[in-house]
Amino acid sequence: MSYDGHAAAAAGRSILEDMETERLSCPYCGEPFELLVDDSAGAQAYIEDCAVCCKPIEVDIRRRRSDDTLEATLHRDDD
Ligand SMILES: [Zn+2]
Repeated sequence: MSYDGHAAAAAGRSILEDMETERLSCPYCGEPFELLVDDSAGAQAYIEDCAVCCKPIEVDIRRRRSDDTLEATLHRDDD
């Protein structure tokens, strides 16, 4: 799997109707933050640096089959 985090972060900043906000917290420092999930982009994975501790957070976005919504999970890059 390849990650293209910087391109995804640069392209995904406009607020659109199909953007959902997920409330998550940094897996390193625990700082809560909001992540915009682009519903039209579907499942994806990328790296987003924490705004507080600057560590690379792996963002893994999957589509739940049960209700067809996107679900974001975070992983540490050093797991
Ligand atoms: Zn952090």
